[in-house]
Amino acid sequence: MRKVVKIVIIILTLIVLVGYSINALSKHRSFALFGDVVTHAPTEEKVVALTFDDGPGPNADEILSILDEQDVKGTFYLVGEEIEKNKEASRKIVEAGHEVGNHSYTHRRMILKSYSFVEEEIEKTDELIREIGYEGEITFRPPYGRKLVSLPLYLSNHDRPAIMWNLEPDFMPDISDDPEGIANYVAENIEPGSIILLHVMYEHRIPSLESVSKIISSLKDQGYEFVTVSDLLEQKQP
Ligand SMILES: [Zn+2]
Repeated sequence: MRKVVKIVIIILTLIVLVGYSINALSKHRSFALFGDVVTHAPTEEKVVALTFDDGPGPNADEILSILDEQDVKGTFYLVGEEIEKNKEASRKIVEAGHEVGNHSYTHRRMILKSYSFVEEEIEKTDELIREIGYEGEITFRPPYGRKLVSLPLYLSNHDRPAIMWNLEPDFMPDISDDPEGIANYVAENIEPGSIILLHVMYEHRIPSLESVSKIISSLKDQGYEFVTVSDLLEQKQP
């Protein structure tokens, strides 16, 4: 009997360990089983990309006017379902000359999902992005940065990298409610070729929204230029 209990404990421990490893692997920022994962551009040029995930949501107009005032183009990873609900706000992003990326249709974690689920999520959203008038290259960013098997396989089959980030300051609990803290963190940790991720579209993410002009001013002072993700992908190795 004790032997059986031991075996059960070993099996349960293994299940937990395997589950934990798969989970950790799926959200690893720079690893995927297939295809390319981009967290930043390998460059010495002082260029960075500002990226905004999710939405378009309630703060869409505000972020557009902040970027307009600062004369900066950003990259917006929009969610297909939200584009459908907010067509006008989505079109405004395109008309303002920003880059629009694909952030899936339903924003569900793309792990343990079928290939056809992934395909539909991405292709439906590509179509919506074309419908709102965007004509440039559409890059893809996984919801929650999650990828395991079917998503990397789909992206690799279609020669599309998974676009991640190397700075996500508004997810750091110590500074997430402090615009100044967010901007200071970015100013201190910025490197040429960085991809900065901010969640400005949510009603409650006013601190993120308010950090944007501070981030832009301080990086401009350091001599940085703002480019879109597809421009950043053009950067070659120094
Ligand atoms: Zn997201």
